[in-house]
Amino acid sequence: MLKLVILRWIYLIFYLLVIIARKFSKEEIENSRISKIFIRFNNGVVLKRCKNIPANRVSILLPHCIQNYECPLKVTSRVENCKECGKCKVGDILKLQRKYGVKAKIATGGTLARKFLKETKPKLVIAVACERDLVAGIYDAFPMSVYGVFNKKINGPCFNTDLSIQEVESVLEKLR
Ligand code: SF4
Repeated sequence: MLKLVILRWIYLIFYLLVIIARKFSKEEIENSRISKIFIRFNNGVVLKRCKNIPANRVSILLPHCIQNYECPLKVTSRVENCKECGKCKVGDILKLQRKYGVKAKIATGGTLARKFLKETKPKLVIAVACERDLVAGIYDAFPMSVYGVFNKKINGPCFNTDLSIQEVESVLEKLR
């Protein structure tokens, strides 16, 4: 209990520092150093708490901007609607879903993400998002175990973003 209270304070301090760092940052694309430190710290805590969790109790949450902008398929309602054409990483996430039995969701906002988590009740969430959403999401969800993965803003913010499938898969491998 005391450990959780201390952790809560650490998360609050990190959260405030990230807000301050973002206020003074001129660069929209780059993640601040403090948010990288926070995510690294959080992920270490989460992995320690999540040893031996079966993969079917893991959820992967993704932002909508990960889907190729020109793709007409409704992957936000069902990731399985993806035809795995290779134009974005949604197809690779689908492969991870089949390989490990995890549940993946592309959420268009916080409300949908919360609804998905309420329904699936995961023991661990692997969340992919931009700096602001990732830090705020992890802070809000505490003490839920949320492993954070930064998306890659290779085309600028919120448009045809990318992610490291290897990083997501390495988390699933560590649980084995
Ligand atoms: S991989 Fe799937 S979601 Fe991405 S563009 Fe192709 S069909 Fe659409």
